[in-house]
Amino acid sequence: MIQIPQYHPEILIIDDEKGIREGLKRLLKNEHLTVDAASTLEEGRKKGLSKEWDLYLIDLKLPDGDGIELLKDYKAAFPEAVCIIMTAFGSISSAVDAVKLGAFSYITKPFLPDEFLTIVRQALEHRWYIVEARRLREEQHQRFLEVAYEQSRLKTILNSIGDGVMVFNRDQELVLYNRRLVALLELKKPLMIGENVLNLLPAVITDNIRKILDSPLEQAAIREEIPIPSRDEKIVEIQFSPILTERKELLGVTVIVRDITESKRLEKVKNQFVNMVAHELKAPIAAIVGYLDMILNRTLGEELKAYDRYIDRCIQRALGLQNLVNDLLNLSRMEAGTVRREIVDLDAVPVIREILDFYSEELKKKNIRLICRMPDSLFLRMDEEDLKKILNNLISNGIKYNRENGELRVCCATENSWVVLEIEDTGIGMTNEEQQNLFKEFYRAKNKFTRDISGTGLGLSIVKKIVDNYSGKIEVHSQFQQGTTFRVLLPKEF
Ligand code: ADP
Repeated sequence: MIQIPQYHPEILIIDDEKGIREGLKRLLKNEHLTVDAASTLEEGRKKGLSKEWDLYLIDLKLPDGDGIELLKDYKAAFPEAVCIIMTAFGSISSAVDAVKLGAFSYITKPFLPDEFLTIVRQALEHRWYIVEARRLREEQHQRFLEVAYEQSRLKTILNSIGDGVMVFNRDQELVLYNRRLVALLELKKPLMIGENVLNLLPAVITDNIRKILDSPLEQAAIREEIPIPSRDEKIVEIQFSPILTERKELLGVTVIVRDITESKRLEKVKNQFVNMVAHELKAPIAAIVGYLDMILNRTLGEELKAYDRYIDRCIQRALGLQNLVNDLLNLSRMEAGTVRREIVDLDAVPVIREILDFYSEELKKKNIRLICRMPDSLFLRMDEEDLKKILNNLISNGIKYNRENGELRVCCATENSWVVLEIEDTGIGMTNEEQQNLFKEFYRAKNKFTRDISGTGLGLSIVKKIVDNYSGKIEVHSQFQQGTTFRVLLPKEF
């Protein structure tokens, strides 16, 4: 019959004459075909519609109706069904009508086996083309779906990348790009795939793409950092890399754009910080070296007593350095998050009393009147060392920057869900500009009143960091030459 791999046609015979039915079955089975049969219209309908057979052999005259009805039903259910009508010689016109209704062909009874097999062969070949066309259509559809899926997958991946990406072919045409690229480069016009869009890009990018594409030799990847004019002063790092085949033929260029604004900012802050630390260390060290040099050279004679003043200054400067180092360590531990905090139900009142007690000598020295307004106890959830650091800095500043015979008012109270600490002095105060910079690392107001007061300029940055850690607030009210009030609000529950 027809020998095509993977093609195993199934044939249904509908004929009421048992002899013909069985004879045809045998004939077809000899040809290694799969055959089934029905003897009535009803049985033929049931079997024939249960699935799409490769070939229907329909007798026109059936005991319970016209075979044409079956043809119509099969064609309605399976428009590509291949049907051969078997008819007696007298009813050829009906067979012709059946062909008009979509039957593949007809054969008149009685027929010879060869005659029958020839027409079956033709029908099965015809059927094979139908099945094959269907398979190809399905395959094409599947491939189309796969391509569409691949494309959308690539697009999804590209758009989920945090860096901007674009690829150009050798003709400087854009092959692909992602959304992030448009955002990072702040492009105003849309980029069109397949077009030369170099004129829409910053000149540095255009130049480097051309440099790689025009280079006769293999060009190494190029890295550039450029500022992008935008509100937030963005800086991007751009990497241009040639795309090469295994045989080192140039296919195009990839451009990867990365936002490095934050790392640049951190780098700058770090450098500034190192500069500031170096600067702060330089002056006291130079002073200590100067004083020690005087002593070594016996500048004031052999009498050791004559040098007491300078030895004392050395000690003061060294203590200043010690404070600076301690403050720096505190800051860096806080930045690194390595400070161990023990959050407990803490009564703030005895802690405040302890700190005030510690400063009683200093208060006396400047004859500062201490006014305290506090309840018997005031609990909040906090680490004791953190509260001590806040109080130490604010109270020591309230004394340091106070005037002789001044006042220091220390209050603590509850306001809604906050515990409020208020430290008010009657000292040198601050100008508005000084207040703006107060919490910056190493900031120290420079005026005639502060000239002789030592400090590191780190105390308030530490206070601010601790308060922030507790989601608290710090407020300052100050009037130049009148006095300053610091208000720290800490949540009762943390
Ligand atoms: P330090 O006191 O070691 O210089 P701080 O960080 O504690 O550093 O304070 C930063 C600056 O803020 C001080 O140098 C000073 O100019 C100003 N300042 C802080 N507290 C007061 C205050 N109570 N009155 C006036 N100025 C103050």
